[in-house]
Amino acid sequence: MARLGGDEFVVVLADMADADHIVPVARKILCALAAPVEVGLQVLSVTTSLGIAVFPRDGATADALLQHADTAMYRAKDQGGNAMAFFTPEMMQVMVERLQVEAGLRRALDQGELRLHFQAIIDARSGLVTSAEALVRWQDPQRGLVSPIQFIPIAEETGLIVPIGQWVLREACRQAQVWRTLGLGDIPVAVNLSARQFSVPSLDESVAQALADSQCPASLLHLEITESSIMEHVDQALETLHRLAALGVHLTIDDFGTGYSSLSKLKQFPVRTLKIDRSFIHDIEVDASDDVLVDAILALAQKLGLRTVAEGVETPAQVAFLEKRGCDAYQGFLFSRPCGSSAFIQMVRERNGAAVNGPMDAANHAPACDIPT
Ligand code: C2E
Ligand code: MG
Ligand code: MG
Repeated sequence: MARLGGDEFVVVLADMADADHIVPVARKILCALAAPVEVGLQVLSVTTSLGIAVFPRDGATADALLQHADTAMYRAKDQGGNAMAFFTPEMMQVMVERLQVEAGLRRALDQGELRLHFQAIIDARSGLVTSAEALVRWQDPQRGLVSPIQFIPIAEETGLIVPIGQWVLREACRQAQVWRTLGLGDIPVAVNLSARQFSVPSLDESVAQALADSQCPASLLHLEITESSIMEHVDQALETLHRLAALGVHLTIDDFGTGYSSLSKLKQFPVRTLKIDRSFIHDIEVDASDDVLVDAILALAQKLGLRTVAEGVETPAQVAFLEKRGCDAYQGFLFSRPCGSSAFIQMVRERNGAAVNGPMDAANHAPACDIPT
């Protein structure tokens, strides 16, 4: 046995007749390390992630075996810890792709290949565009417009999310200010913050800087934080949220309903809007349990005095359901797909400038200009 460094240990099993015989040994190791450890008055538990590479199948040299065991260990970590994973050649392929995306993202930042698209959020009562969500895309010269679903998780793992997030923040504030100078009125822009960005101690300073540089009023910046990233470290999150709220920005919980919020904590958060996750809206009138959930979320939000936005609204039937229950705003393909700033400006002019005919008219104006889904 050896300690390679940090929290990484290596066990060499030199006398295994068959790869299958490794499993019971690996299980024993996991069990032994799962036992709680008493340190002073505290009881601590550690989780273990175990990656396995087999000679000669997975490598002929110690270096190759170590590297492949390391790759497998990351797979075990992805499974949430206290797990083992055998190396497979397919893992190597995933690694190579990740490295390519990482290198590509660094270049994207340097060469200005990131783009912001905007999706309208529609007020349920007036049918007007009341705000917009800024959604990042990567204009890759080879692959075309790449969806954030494909690169945000990698940016998050590598830490690149921090400079990317700062770019998004600055660009979104700049756009909100451009819309004002073009006479569109005050249209707040919502920016997504990932878990990692949310835990950077100087987050409030970056936000203040982006606002100052763009001269965008703080009230026009909405910050969306997912329920799960708040719940990861609730007490620290509470402090960060208060610091952000003190700047005058509007705080929103994104993907609400997926993160097991503690209701008592929710009351303490200085958030003003809940965005109901798309998955619940999708199954309205298909799955009765989703109807009950959406009902309950809307009732809870109303009790707590929070504004509600339904995400992923695609059909008039969904609008009818949400309208009856007093949802405040809608976001979804029925009204508009995310699009570049100029298409967004045109859409707002058409919608907010013309006589208001109610939210259902929206579908006719949707500019189709985003990544095909
Ligand atoms: P999100 O914040 O929940 O954003 C809403 C997503 O739902 C967007 O996907 C939007 O295009 C999609 N959407 C909106 N209406 C509909 C609809 O009616 N039907 C369907 N099927 N989808 C709809 P998008 O742009 O692919 O973004 C995905 C996620 O990537 C976002 O989810 C957000 O978590 C993340 N993301 C996007 N931009 C940023 C960013 O600048 N920073 C960070 N940290 N994350 C971002
Ligand atoms: Mg969002
Ligand atoms: Mg969302």
